[in-house]
Amino acid sequence: MPPIDSDAIIIGAGISGMYQLYRLRALGMQVQVLEAGTDVGGTWYWNRYPGARFDSESWSYGYSFSEELLQEWEWPEHFAAQPDTLRYLNYVAQKFDLKKHITFNARVTTAYFNDADNHWAVSVEGGAHYRAPLLITALGPLSAYTLPNIPGRDQFKGKAYHTARWPHDPVDMKGKRVGIIGTGATAIQTIQTIAKDVGHLTVFQRTPNWAAPLHNRKITPEEQAQIKASYPEIFARCRETSTCFIHQTDPRNALDVSPEEREAFWEKLYSEPGFGIWVGNFADVLTNPAANDLASAFMAKKIRQRVKDPAVAEKLIPKNHGFGTRRLPLESGYYEVYNQDNVRLIDINETPIECITPEGIKTSQEQFQFDILIYATGFDGVTGPYDRIDIRGAGGLSLKKEWVGTPKTFLGVMAEGFPNMLMILGPHTARGNIPRNIEEIVDWVTDMINHMRQHQYNRVEPRPDAVAAWGEHVEKAVENLLFSQVNSWQTGINRNVEGRDVRRTLGYYGGAVEYRRMAQEVAIKGYREFLWR
Ligand code: NAP
Repeated sequence: MPPIDSDAIIIGAGISGMYQLYRLRALGMQVQVLEAGTDVGGTWYWNRYPGARFDSESWSYGYSFSEELLQEWEWPEHFAAQPDTLRYLNYVAQKFDLKKHITFNARVTTAYFNDADNHWAVSVEGGAHYRAPLLITALGPLSAYTLPNIPGRDQFKGKAYHTARWPHDPVDMKGKRVGIIGTGATAIQTIQTIAKDVGHLTVFQRTPNWAAPLHNRKITPEEQAQIKASYPEIFARCRETSTCFIHQTDPRNALDVSPEEREAFWEKLYSEPGFGIWVGNFADVLTNPAANDLASAFMAKKIRQRVKDPAVAEKLIPKNHGFGTRRLPLESGYYEVYNQDNVRLIDINETPIECITPEGIKTSQEQFQFDILIYATGFDGVTGPYDRIDIRGAGGLSLKKEWVGTPKTFLGVMAEGFPNMLMILGPHTARGNIPRNIEEIVDWVTDMINHMRQHQYNRVEPRPDAVAAWGEHVEKAVENLLFSQVNSWQTGINRNVEGRDVRRTLGYYGGAVEYRRMAQEVAIKGYREFLWR
């Protein structure tokens, strides 16, 4: 079959792909979106596990580009659940008539750049081919899910689910014996939601995480009106903060205030909704080990207060990383779950999992029998989705091989050696309140594509010196942050994936404000960091 031609191919119909499609279509371009799922939504399409919801204030999360959309849509809760977010994204797709440009069930397997005509040739599973001068990757940083590398996984006779591949039909867990592996943000949401329904729940924990209360609640009609009237202020506020959340870092240092003032501030943050306790904390909490120790002690005290059995509480308190040095899960009654008779916590450092058996899980000490096994075992973050596609740039260069060690990008938007490939939320971009980051990058990429079309260029790629300088800047920006010394998906560690045992810097951590400033300067000065032909 001959390839299907368009002006641009976008891989992914999540929040990034949908907005990028909207913007390029407005330039009059023919756009082909290829999406592996059967519908739009990306993260919110795949992650349907019980209790899935985001941790951004709903009214700071949605798209900001359409005033009409902002006024029409009503978020039911301050932190919306996955079904509402998916409903929202479908509403957007329908309102802006996006689906007619999207081919679903189209998992991209290869993307090859042809030097002779400066076109990308893209193939999907099943063999259809597409061709376009521009390739835009909107893959999502957390789309390459990973299963635990535990022997016997295929033997289990009950039902087994990874949280990122949760069935579309509800899973009946009433009265069932359920085992869950993992205690990250996903597991915490799942555990606190299913614990009340299951017959018995066994949680297999390798590393406990610090978690703080979400304090979610319904949005009242008065609040709804207030939110709709203040979108300009809300988005302006998000633009001022380094993570694009509404929470601003407190300028004081924890070590400079009295113990009473510190404690009172932390009590206040602990009682407030959202990420304030993480990204709105004292300025030194995520950079100074002594300040971080104090914050960790405060959080440990909270866990001890909430979990009745002191031995279980101790197991739930992280010992190998400080508060906030991994992405903070927000919870709603998570710790209290361990006060229930039908929930048991197994520390697999004390009694390691030896294998998965047809009946359940065998640890060094016990045989567990389960009807359902849940793998909340996370993702090969940021670069994983790129590795799962065979991407070849100029001269047949393999992206996977080029990025061994560290990704080489300029602004996280283009990779060295991969002409005409633009990445939305690729490695080395600022991240936080994701849709805010996405809109800015999509707008920037759209301006750059417009520049390319106006000047009738056929090919663009970043200059090697600009890539090297950006790489150095990215490393420098992370130097003082404690999280860079801790293993997590954010530092590129995934013990289930070969080669993912060395920490890498995968984001830009100099803050969204600085990222925006630098990206804007590049555009204003005429994109001199790129080679144009
Ligand atoms: P994660 O944070 O990487 O957690 C994976 C968990 O599985 C960890 O507890 C990990 O233990 C454990 N694990 C992995 N392999 C294992 C093995 N072989 N044996 C035993 N345990 C194993 O993944 P996640 O919870 O899916 O969250 C990923 C990210 O998604 C979050 O950080 C967040 O950015 C995003 N997320 C957001 C929301 C939200 O907005 N509310 C909700 C969920 C997720 P170790 O720590 O020891 O490796």
